[in-house]
Amino acid sequence: MPRPIVATVDLPALRHNLEQARLRAPDARVWAVVKANAYGHGIERVFESLRAADGFAVVDLAEAERLRALDWRGPILLLEGVFEARDLELCSRLHLWHAVHCNEQIDWLAAHKTLHPHRVFLKLNSGMNRLGFAPTAFRAAWARLNALPQVDEISLMTHFSDADGERFGQNGVAHQVKAFEAATADLPGERTLCNSAGILRHAGDPLQGLGVNNLAADWVREGIALYGSAPDYPGHTAAGWDLRPTMHLTSRIIGEQRLQPGDSVGYGSTFVADKSMRIGVVACGYADGYPRHAGTGTPMLVAGQRTRTVGRVSMDMITVDLSPLDDAGVSAGIGSEVVLWGESQEKPGAVLPVDEVAFAAGTISYELLCAVAQRVGFGVKDRA
Ligand SMILES: *Cc1c(COP(=O)(O)O)cnc(C)c1O
Repeated sequence: MPRPIVATVDLPALRHNLEQARLRAPDARVWAVVKANAYGHGIERVFESLRAADGFAVVDLAEAERLRALDWRGPILLLEGVFEARDLELCSRLHLWHAVHCNEQIDWLAAHKTLHPHRVFLKLNSGMNRLGFAPTAFRAAWARLNALPQVDEISLMTHFSDADGERFGQNGVAHQVKAFEAATADLPGERTLCNSAGILRHAGDPLQGLGVNNLAADWVREGIALYGSAPDYPGHTAAGWDLRPTMHLTSRIIGEQRLQPGDSVGYGSTFVADKSMRIGVVACGYADGYPRHAGTGTPMLVAGQRTRTVGRVSMDMITVDLSPLDDAGVSAGIGSEVVLWGESQEKPGAVLPVDEVAFAAGTISYELLCAVAQRVGFGVKDRA
């Protein structure tokens, strides 16, 4: 028997979440962002369900190759562009569209003997100060690209740092929108600005520029919302945005103990019982990708009922408080289903949002989903 921990990828939920993006940005095309192996779900596993997207966006060239190997003939965008000059050969061969965020990438293009001209997404640093040309350098970069025979079409791109909230007491995107408008207003080309938080919170905000009228613009780049998580939790929940969880991480109880007042649990004895209580031992640990820094009190479902972890997460096990189940008369013991996050596979409708677990562990859903380990068994759920 393999260990009972399984990550079940929910295909109807992926399709549902993609449709939500279409509803929120009806005039834009949608990139399904599948970097980091589709946020830990597996590119090959999610591909058919996301095929209705207009394109796929990745960071790693090997992921672009995997999409072409699945016979995806549509657009693929490299969000960070190429990492060295010879990557451009793969871009030509596989018809990859790529971001251009620095002059070195333009130098490489200028020296590249291409099979056919490339479509590029010129990236503006509108204030996040990660990748992209400064507003003062943007037009010169555009003019350089425009003069290259290696370049066919130039699109315009930027990325928001605070679309999930506010910045210095102001709307989190306004200052970057202003910078984007100023740098691009009269330039031709398609535009893309929004990530998930931008789509959910700002898709309809006005945008000035050729051929666009709102922030959804020509393309949106949706990642985390496709995977059923609210980018702005706890301000909003995934259910509040009508998103459905796409990964259900479940396991089982493999041991139980009865504690007396004063008994402790696990490494470092960080949890000490103040009453007689029953605890369960769950087959899931940090080597499965469960966050080790999740302390006592992290939410968990056992037999569909909500309870909490107690003590430290170890490599292969976590301990869980069974007293709420005992108090409620819910029977649970060895073999009972445990939901680490997502929906119970035995009690439909019992859901523990990954956002709640991430929040309790002081991190974000992105990190938890991307970190699910190789040793976890993966399954796929299509129609119930
Ligand atoms: C990862 C990424 C996205 C998707 O972000 P989400 O918050 O997951 O929607 C969009 N654009 C760029 C440039 C990215 O790197």
